[in-house]
Amino acid sequence: MGIPQKLVDGYRTFRQEQYAPLAEKYLRFAEGQNPDTLIIACADSRVDPSVIFAAGPGELFVLRNVAALVPPYMPDQGLHGVSAGLEFAVTALNVSHIIVMGHGLCGGVNACLHAPSGNVTGDFIPSWVELAAPAREAVERELPNGSDEARQRLGEYRTIEVSLKNLMTFPIVRDRVEASKLSLHGLWYSVYEGSLKLRDPETGKFEQISD
Ligand SMILES: [Zn+2]
Repeated sequence: MGIPQKLVDGYRTFRQEQYAPLAEKYLRFAEGQNPDTLIIACADSRVDPSVIFAAGPGELFVLRNVAALVPPYMPDQGLHGVSAGLEFAVTALNVSHIIVMGHGLCGGVNACLHAPSGNVTGDFIPSWVELAAPAREAVERELPNGSDEARQRLGEYRTIEVSLKNLMTFPIVRDRVEASKLSLHGLWYSVYEGSLKLRDPETGKFEQISD
């Protein structure tokens, strides 16, 4: 079985419509990359940072994983994919911004919220989404009797905050933030409205970004 024909067709469209007109720009990529922003987003197929920010190649350094989670700083022998990408973006690329972008209807957040029921199974997902346990605890505290929808949304917001907090446990991040060389931002994306809310660092509220 080959790769899906849809992808081959898409590749040919890319070659003709994207690469060919910008070939000079692409050829300069041989010299390196210089993105200014690291985006940590969910792997969800509906949440594509390049599409949402209308960004071309070379503009965004993107890490995607289940629920846009950042683990805390743990310099052990573990296989820390997110931490390695973060380290590269901060120390080698010198990004000025790190954006954690969560989203609506996030299955990873949902799994974490429902983990105590014992229904979340697998070799890797349960321990991974447990990184967001503080978000689940916040939901229990703040919305113990809320609707499923309200609890899910709050869980998504609080999960973004867990990742932002964990980012600050990395000395390379904390030092640059304290020196005002790096800023951290939280965004929440509605997969069906196609709209973004930005977390206000003063109030902690997520506010709609105007069109
Ligand atoms: Zn998700």
